[in-house]
Order: sequence, then C-alpha cells, then structure tokens
Amino acid sequence: MKNRLNPFKYAYVACFIASSLFACIRPNSNTKDANTGANPAESEHSYTDAVPALPAVEFNADSAYAFVKAQVDFGPRIPSTAAHAACANYLQQKLKSYGASVFVQTAPIKTYDGKTHQLKNIIAAIAPEKAKRILISAHWDTRPFSDQDPDHNNHEKTFDGANDGGSGVAVILEMARQIQLKQPEVGVDFILWDIEDYGNPNGDGNGKTSYCLGSQYWAKNMPVKGYKPLYAINLDMVGGENAQFTMEEYSRQFAPQVVDKVWGIAEQLGYNRFFLPVNSSAIMDDHYWMNKAGIPTIDIIHFSDAGFYSNWHTQFDNLAHIDKNALNAVGRVVMTAIYNEK
Ligand SMILES: [Zn+2]
Repeated sequence: MKNRLNPFKYAYVACFIASSLFACIRPNSNTKDANTGANPAESEHSYTDAVPALPAVEFNADSAYAFVKAQVDFGPRIPSTAAHAACANYLQQKLKSYGASVFVQTAPIKTYDGKTHQLKNIIAAIAPEKAKRILISAHWDTRPFSDQDPDHNNHEKTFDGANDGGSGVAVILEMARQIQLKQPEVGVDFILWDIEDYGNPNGDGNGKTSYCLGSQYWAKNMPVKGYKPLYAINLDMVGGENAQFTMEEYSRQFAPQVVDKVWGIAEQLGYNRFFLPVNSSAIMDDHYWMNKAGIPTIDIIHFSDAGFYSNWHTQFDNLAHIDKNALNAVGRVVMTAIYNEK
C-alpha cells in the first residue's frame, strides 16, 4: 500500500507548517543533478529571494566510502566476534582522533537465541560544553545471517553489511572529520548503536521486538540524566544503490518538525530523488526507542511501503552495491541541518 502525497500539496503543507528556516519552498521541476558532487547550496536558484540561504557545508563522499570499506574490511561486525571487537576499537579511536569525547556503554545483553553478548554502544560528544545539541546515530553491528537472500542456501551465512550498518556509521565518521575542521554553532553527539540487527528471523510475539537491543538498553539506562538534545536523526542503510528515503510514520508522529526540516533542506539542495516527499508506514528501528526516551527523532532509512533496500539482509549487501551519491546526499543534508542551527 502506498500513500503518495501530491508534491504540490506537500509543498503547500510544508510552507504552512514549516519552521522559520524556510519561507516557502516552491516545487522544483528542474531538479539539480546530485551526481556532480558539487555543493548544490552554492548553485544558482531561480527563487533565491524566496528561500533563506542555507550554510555551505563540506562533506567528502570518497572519504565516506573509505569509511564503509574500512568497516567491511574487518569482516561482519557480529556481536561476540573478533571483527566486532576490532571494529569497536577502530570506531572509538577514529572518533577520538576527530576531537570527540568518547564513552562506551557496555552491558551483557541476551539475544532471542538465548546467547549473551557484551553490548558496546559507542557514544561521542563534540563540544560537550554547549547546551544546544543535535544527536546523530546509526547502528554499527552486522546481522549474523542473510535470511532475506533469494537463495535459501544462504540464509545461515554471514554477509558484509556494507549498507546495513556500514553506511550510516561511515557518514557519521565523515561528519565528525569535517566538524573538527569547522565547528557548527551547536554541539553534536553521535551514538553508534550495537546489537540493532540481531532480531529473530522468525519474528517476535507479544508485542516485543528482538531488534534494537542497544538503543532499548540505552533508553532505559541513559548515561547522562536529563539528556535533551534539540532533536535526533538516525541513519540506517543510507548508502545503497537506488537509495530512496520516505517520511516514515513514527518519524512523522514523534518529530514532524524534524521531518519537515530535513526533507525541506533536501528539496532546497536538489536531492529530492533521494528524499521523496512520500509517506511510509511505521517501522521498528532505533529511532523508535530514542523517541520513547523523549528525544524527537527521525529515521533516514532506505525504505518505502514497497519494502527495504533491495539487497537488505542478503549476500549482495556489499561494497559493489554502495552508491557514493547516496552517501553524499545524506551527509550534505544532515550537515546542513546541523550548521543551520543557531
Ligand atoms: Zn538490518
């Protein structure tokens, strides 16, 4: 079932309820090419007097891609494996090297199969002295099996998780690298969620979920009491080929102003081929638990009511199917949101 909004109607609604960031965004029939890698914020708009200028941001898609590859090179980041432990060290070291204060939230966590794993939620704060903060998150673990693979013989096998896990973390690492070079006015926190993707392949009953165990633990055991960023954005599968992000139901329900802000920026930057002004139904992801913890959070995820990223939980979720243009679009949109906050 699809629930498509008429783009003209969407623009009207967006104008009506948009935050003060945007005067009015006219539907743009002349979509700019997002393939060039150039910063569209610097290109000419035919309606510049109607739209406040967005800050120019830096984001290097080649660097983001290299961060995906660095994770994949460890092997699948499956909890309780050597690759998981080594990648955890790498992520901490990288974030520290970019000037972040890093803290790892650990706990023994039992997964649906009765096994216990040491959870490692990697939490990084940039400019922790600043009161106004934005939180950006992504899960860094890899699902232990490719149970959606078209070949049933592959359902028990591990897979690379280049997009599912790797891409969101890669965008965050590149953002951290850029932020060290030029600080935004607000403070920025990053959380890399662990044990998001160890859910029961046969489904869960009783309204429970075996997914998102890291964010569920964090929501019940917040390391900083009263932690209240302005809002949060969770990134999940943001680097796959043919990436398309729709306005997911929990995001619209808990953080409608953040959905408007982010999709408005994407439109203004000419990235509407990635950020579709289309509603989609609710999905269980880390953003749900972040919202439950009282932080308005949206999910940027390759998902629509037609389904997830086509290579989701298959052997094909590898580097060959990563699109730098998708990494670039997401990185620039999120960075613009951050640098636009005063
Ligand atoms: Zn997954």
